[in-house]
Amino acid sequence: MTARRPLIVAIDGPAGAGKSTVSKILARRLGFSLVDTGAIYRCVALAARERGLALDDDAALEKLLGTLHISFKMVEQYNHVFLDGRDVSDAIRSPENSLAASQVSSRPVVRASLLELQRRLALNAKVGAILEGRDIGTVVFPDAEIKIFLDADPTIRARRRFEELFEKGVDKSLSDVQAEQNKRDKDDREREAAPLKPAADALHINSTALPMSEVERLIEEAVAAKRR
Ligand code: C5P
Repeated sequence: MTARRPLIVAIDGPAGAGKSTVSKILARRLGFSLVDTGAIYRCVALAARERGLALDDDAALEKLLGTLHISFKMVEQYNHVFLDGRDVSDAIRSPENSLAASQVSSRPVVRASLLELQRRLALNAKVGAILEGRDIGTVVFPDAEIKIFLDADPTIRARRRFEELFEKGVDKSLSDVQAEQNKRDKDDREREAAPLKPAADALHINSTALPMSEVERLIEEAVAAKRR
C-alpha cells in the first residue's frame, strides 16, 4: 500500500499581505506543518552576506548552497529558523537581509537548489503542510490541493510591515519601508526565474479590507471542501 501524500496548501503573495500571520494560525489549528519558504531564501542571503559573497556570483552561491543546513522548529508557537544549528530567526528579518533575499532568490541556481528542500519539508508532514512563498502554487507544488494568492493594497502592506519593525525596535520611516517594499515587489514580479504571480487555478483573496480572521476562515473553508 502506498502512503498517502500530505495535503498541500500553497499560499503565495507579496510581502505584507498577511501570509505569515494566517499560515501560522492555520497550521496550528489544523495540525499541519508550516514551511516558510521566504525564511529559506533569507538564510541563503544571510550566509552569503556573512561570507562577503557577491549576491550574483552563481558559482560561489552554488558552492555555498551545498554546505548549508537549514531547519525549522516550533518553540512556544513561534517558528524558529536555524542555519547550521544557529537560531537566525531575527537576523534573517532585518531590512538589509530582506533586500538581499530578494536578490539571491532571482538566481536560477539558488532556486533550483532549494526546490528539493522545500518539497522534502512539506512531504515529511503527517497530515498536511502549509507552504508560504512566491512560487509555491506555480513551481514548487503545481499540483497542490489548495492554492491561495493573498494580496493587499501596497500602502496597507507597507504599514503592516512598518508596525512590525517598529515593535521590534527597528528605526525605519514608513516611506523607507514603502520604498524597499516597492523594490522587492518589482524585482520579485519581474524576475525571469519563477516570478511572483498567481497560479491559474489559485483562489484570490485580497486582505486590504478584510480582518485576518476572515482570511483564515476562507482558507479553512477551502481546506475543508478538499477534505470532504
Ligand atoms: O516571504 P519573505 O518576505 O520572507 O521572502 C523574502 C524574499 O524571498 C522575497 O522577497 C522573495 O524575493 C524571496 N522568495 C522567493 N520565493 C519564495 C519565497 C520567498 O523568491 N517562495
